[in-house]
Amino acid sequence: MPVYKAPVEDTLFLLNDVFGIERYNNLPGFADASADVIEAVLGEGAKLCEEVLQPINYSGDQEGCTRHSDGRVTTPKGFKEAYEAYAGGGWIGLAMDPEYGGQGLPYTLGAVMNEYASAANMAFAMYPGLTMGAMAALYVHGSDEQKQTYLPKMIEGKWSGTMNLTEPHCGTDLGLLKTKAVPNGDGSYAITGTKIFISAGEQDITENIVHLVLARIEGAPAGTKGISLFVVPRNKLGLDGSVGANNGVSCGSIEHKMGIHGNATCVMNYEGAQGWLVGAENKGLNAMFVMMNEARLGVAIQGLAQSEVAYQNAVAYAKERLQGRALTGAKEPAKAADPIIVHPDVRRTLMSIRAFNEAARAFVLWNALKSDVAHRSGDAAERQAADDQLGLMTPVLKGVLTDVGFDNAVKAQQMFGGHGYIAETGVEQFVRDARIAMIYEGANGVQAMDLVGRKLGRDGGRAIMGFFNEVGGFLKDNAEDEALKPLLAPLQVSLGHLQQAAMWFMNNALARPDNAGAGATDFMHLLGLVSLGYMWAKMAKAAQEKLKAGADGATERMNAKLVTARFFMERSLPETAVHLARITAGADTTMALSAEQF
Ligand SMILES: Cc1cc2nc3c(=O)[nH]c(=O)nc-3n(C[C@H](O)[C@H](O)[C@H](O)COP(=O)(O)OP(=O)(O)OC[C@H]3O[C@@H](n4cnc5c(N)ncnc54)[C@H](O)[C@@H]3O)c2cc1C
Repeated sequence: MPVYKAPVEDTLFLLNDVFGIERYNNLPGFADASADVIEAVLGEGAKLCEEVLQPINYSGDQEGCTRHSDGRVTTPKGFKEAYEAYAGGGWIGLAMDPEYGGQGLPYTLGAVMNEYASAANMAFAMYPGLTMGAMAALYVHGSDEQKQTYLPKMIEGKWSGTMNLTEPHCGTDLGLLKTKAVPNGDGSYAITGTKIFISAGEQDITENIVHLVLARIEGAPAGTKGISLFVVPRNKLGLDGSVGANNGVSCGSIEHKMGIHGNATCVMNYEGAQGWLVGAENKGLNAMFVMMNEARLGVAIQGLAQSEVAYQNAVAYAKERLQGRALTGAKEPAKAADPIIVHPDVRRTLMSIRAFNEAARAFVLWNALKSDVAHRSGDAAERQAADDQLGLMTPVLKGVLTDVGFDNAVKAQQMFGGHGYIAETGVEQFVRDARIAMIYEGANGVQAMDLVGRKLGRDGGRAIMGFFNEVGGFLKDNAEDEALKPLLAPLQVSLGHLQQAAMWFMNNALARPDNAGAGATDFMHLLGLVSLGYMWAKMAKAAQEKLKAGADGATERMNAKLVTARFFMERSLPETAVHLARITAGADTTMALSAEQF
């Protein structure tokens, strides 16, 4: 049976030693999160994930969700109780405003918990994850009344949330959406239409479901400029907030799909359902973007989480499975063969996953802290800089962490040989679950286009210039550090590749947009690699400093960090050269054949 242990020590190293979370104490909620509190909070979260969520991951996958003839949906055994434990532990409202019953703690801690929960049980973690995303949109764009009505119940775990964008004929291109909203004359709207692929659209976990639905008000302009956001509870609400009759919202069917079987993916029918506008008319995409940006970071975390849990299981197996002898002679002569972890190719695989996971975790937390700054700082310039970075990095996090997360789940599966292909070992579930993260919340190719087409040139390239300056500044400040030199030299080279690629787009993409489109995915991965390399440089510096200060019992872990940093710089980072070569090859061969020739 699969195993999972939340990487609490690694998280604490990042928060305390690499990013110095105490430096953020001036932000609301951070002063309450002292080092001791953080350790206790993460310890509790880890326990819930390891002891409650992980044990129902495999069974939840096997059992899946069931839709009954009356439209009700049953989730796998244990999910309802786990949700109660999750909400009861305060995890849904961890970072939410105390005015609505939240704890007001840093969003960053919520991101950590999201990693642990998604690694322990991704299908389950989507139920609270979507609820938190819906709460974020309501919190930013909802009226006071909407916030008072919905947020406390969602935080308590009584009601959940969903996001309804996709329709049968439109996924990426939301400008095509047809669901309509007709004013009822009393401030509410009648919502009619069909949404597909709605995660957690129906379930037996909470007493009500708060659907956030994109729809077009009668007479609104065509395309994305005519889309509005509505809050549509599945069940009508009494004046006292009690849950009443069905509100014209039903689940028509659920999908049979490759992974995340424990999460119901629903066709949702809205038949004159009563909904209320969230935010301004025709500005629905704007409002939904709050949810989508949070959800994209959440999906990025899913990529990391599946990579981490797959890695942990591959390591456990590689230490046990006896096959062949080490190239340098038997390591366990008393046994019939050595464990496969002695083989360099097995090591190469495990090290490449590990080097990614540790840097990806740092990359997530670095940006989660920026999100806290962007939303909580009182300093406008600080907020702006954090928001710039977050805007630039959101598609990179989503695209790179899920692409590589899936690749890593496959690599981990490979360590099991044929046994990895068999359901019983549980590792093939990680592969199946990881796959969706590359697709939903905007397919990764679309993330790459968002990066190159919108984010790169926005505000005269201010965000990417900020990143160049930060990494360049780090390289300069640490240029005399002899121990860091072998790590910084490859980072300098790769930063150069990134700058050349950005310059190449400036010179070649405006006149020929296909040049941007054909190189976008490579650019996303190139920026991702440099970001991960930068994370490794920061982690190596912090590890060195910790070692100098006596390491406080962490000598072995810090030495391992330094080795893993070198592995990444020597073996993963050089891929930036390949991405640059592909980008500068342009779109000629990519676009030359006619559609008929395919
Ligand atoms: C399990 C599951 C859960 C989901 N949960 C939700 C949910 O909760 N709420 C919700 O609203 N939706 C949800 N979705 C829908 C999901 O977000 C969409 O499937 C996704 O955004 C892609 O849309 P599509 O399937 O229509 O693909 P299409 O838009 O038809 O795109 C097909 C492919 O074409 C390419 N492509 C399309 N346009 C471009 C472009 N402009 N540039 C480059 N490449 C492009 C991409 O590679 C894409 O993969 C879910 C889907 C699944 C399968």
